[in-house]
Amino acid sequence: MTPFSADEVLARCDVLAGISAATDGIERAYLTPEHARANWTVGEWMDAAGLDAWQDAAGNQRGTLAGPTADAPILLLGSHLDTVPGAGRYDGILGTLLAIAVVGRLRARGVELPFGLEVIGFADEEGTRFGRTLLGSCAVAGTWQESWWGLRDAHGTTVRDAFIAFGLDPARVGDASLRGQSIVGYLEAHIEQGPLLQDADRALGVVEGIMGARRFELQMTGEAGHAGGMPYGRRRDALLGASEVVTAVEALARDAGAIGTVGRLHAYPGAMNVIPGRVEFSLDLRAETDALRDRVWREIEEAALKAAASRNLAFDVHELHAARATHVAAPLAAAVEAGIRASGDAAPMRLLSKAGHDAMAIADLCDYAMLFIRCKDGVSHHRDESVRADDVALALDAFEATVLAVADAHDRAHD
Ligand SMILES: [Zn+2]
Repeated sequence: MTPFSADEVLARCDVLAGISAATDGIERAYLTPEHARANWTVGEWMDAAGLDAWQDAAGNQRGTLAGPTADAPILLLGSHLDTVPGAGRYDGILGTLLAIAVVGRLRARGVELPFGLEVIGFADEEGTRFGRTLLGSCAVAGTWQESWWGLRDAHGTTVRDAFIAFGLDPARVGDASLRGQSIVGYLEAHIEQGPLLQDADRALGVVEGIMGARRFELQMTGEAGHAGGMPYGRRRDALLGASEVVTAVEALARDAGAIGTVGRLHAYPGAMNVIPGRVEFSLDLRAETDALRDRVWREIEEAALKAAASRNLAFDVHELHAARATHVAAPLAAAVEAGIRASGDAAPMRLLSKAGHDAMAIADLCDYAMLFIRCKDGVSHHRDESVRADDVALALDAFEATVLAVADAHDRAHD
């Protein structure tokens, strides 16, 4: 197999797919034995591409290629190596392995860049184990929160204990941070996780920004009662109230051009012959701008309070997570666009990312831009995740050309 080719990248995706805690779909969570094995394997590939491979203080797998001078800035390339349960083999993984292959190709051609390179395989983007996403990239961005040490996994293990079991020193997590360093920017390639490129018959796209999500735990409380004996006029059915909210979420988000999803709903006590006295349900809300998203949330909250009042229920809200929408840096996005043009697409498509990415956390550290790669039918977070080999070859060409375009722009700015 040709080194640093699309075929090699895809074969490596297959190797990593075999490093899994489960056999039905891939599962590789933060600070697990599978995480350690994946880091070790990717480290070998980093070394083979000419990078100095190392694991940082938060468990991210990193590979460094020194710049022309000791004080040269660095360009960051990467994506994540962890997966959700039942995952496919390309989300995050493909972007990390493309970055390594790009460095290998540049090195093989003897290209001299005006900056150093660092490839990062982020350790925890999905947040599967501890319920908090982007732990790996936040450590690199220097935004690690003290409160995260106490987060627990499903078995009650804290982040702190998991760090120690993995061989990391919690006191040193700050060493993973690049804050204060001179950084050119961060480039991430990723599968689209949506169908827009496929629908437009495009292999690649330029990302304009990443929607910020807000996530809520919602609760309707009424009163349980006998499904036969309690007349309608006296019922306080929490599930009927919650159902009104579920349909309002779709209507209000859709009208406003936002996206709202209720992905989980539990009715209690949960018996066939009992009126539901309490319902817990989730809400994930995204939009192009934070202002739009927040406006839609206020409308949903208003609709929920109205539904609660009309059915004599109590409505409670607990916000679990909020990430601001981020926008790519225009000069870096222009480099991605130039990269895609160099791969043969004269007028690259631009699109917004509706899914979260490590780039959101890295946006607190430096400018970023992203390259999207078509995936079959937009399927992701699923074992059927699929990419085309010719698309991966184009992505490799485009990503390499992007790095060269960033180098050109850097040279022009510093001449
Ligand atoms: Zn991802």
